[in-house]
Amino acid sequence: METSNDGPAGEGRGGPVAPVPLPGPAPAREAEGAGSEGAVAPAAVVVPPAGLSPSRAGDFMQCPLLYRFRVIDRLPEKPSEAATRGTLVHAVLERLFDAPAAERTAPRAKSLVPGQWDRLREARPELVELFADDADGERLTRWLSEAEQLVERWFTLEDPTRLEPAERELFVEAELDSGLRLRGIIDRVDVAPTGEVRIVDYKTGRAPRPEYAESALFQMKFYALVVWRLKRVVPRRLQLVYLGSGDVLTYDPVLADLERVERKLLALWEAIRRATETGDWRPRPTKLCGWCDHRAHCPEFGGTPPPYPLPVRAAEPDGDPQGRIGPD
Ligand code: SF4
Repeated sequence: METSNDGPAGEGRGGPVAPVPLPGPAPAREAEGAGSEGAVAPAAVVVPPAGLSPSRAGDFMQCPLLYRFRVIDRLPEKPSEAATRGTLVHAVLERLFDAPAAERTAPRAKSLVPGQWDRLREARPELVELFADDADGERLTRWLSEAEQLVERWFTLEDPTRLEPAERELFVEAELDSGLRLRGIIDRVDVAPTGEVRIVDYKTGRAPRPEYAESALFQMKFYALVVWRLKRVVPRRLQLVYLGSGDVLTYDPVLADLERVERKLLALWEAIRRATETGDWRPRPTKLCGWCDHRAHCPEFGGTPPPYPLPVRAAEPDGDPQGRIGPD
């Protein structure tokens, strides 16, 4: 594994990368870190999940009870400024590629911020809550300016005038032999003239310390596994672009990495299935509890979870009765 700021593969060596289509339209992105996906609990019935996204897999690994609150109980979560800013920045970076290559400049990207914010608010009226108490608009102005700074920093890490993404905000889904469906939204897919695939994900936070890099790469290996399953191509490079700290984390996977991730996901899926059937969703407190919206329902904080719906019924053929998926 390598951490670098040396620019992506395919730039500066092979010139701009050429578009090669991958399957699937891109649905609207949800805020980073707070989405909805997986099994739904209609009335008093629980359906074991048949699908996993990186976010929900990450939830279960962080805390099984958090997974339950989000996927089974579907408890509402308040929009946060940080997550919404992430969604806004992603939208701007995605839309910028609509412009001809030479016009993909930092000023142009920054000019997209207000319009994309209007669009986002229209699509998700609940976001109005975020600045409801900001009578003089000062907080909103600062927040928009922070979004602009993140967008501007991207230009120090990548050069969009030399990129022609094959896909942006690409919804991918693949079914493993076991029946488990893996789903997610890939921020950007670049395909070099040689056919080499690079998967890129933007993060508006800071790069993790080296000891946490492996867990940051889990999501990327998840996507690489899905692409491999769909296209029988092992992506040449996985690239995380951290706009918060101005770092780029890259990893060049091999097939053994993807097989390892597949085994891990199958074990995780089995653990989720067992918890669904037994109702044993254990809380796993960590310092991340400070960001958890569900402390009022969590026994670790003196709360009581909602009654667990029973009985369990078999998973639906598509494993996702509402067809909903999680965010990145
Ligand atoms: S507060 Fe912590 S332990 Fe409780 S559900 Fe949230 S993440 Fe899990």
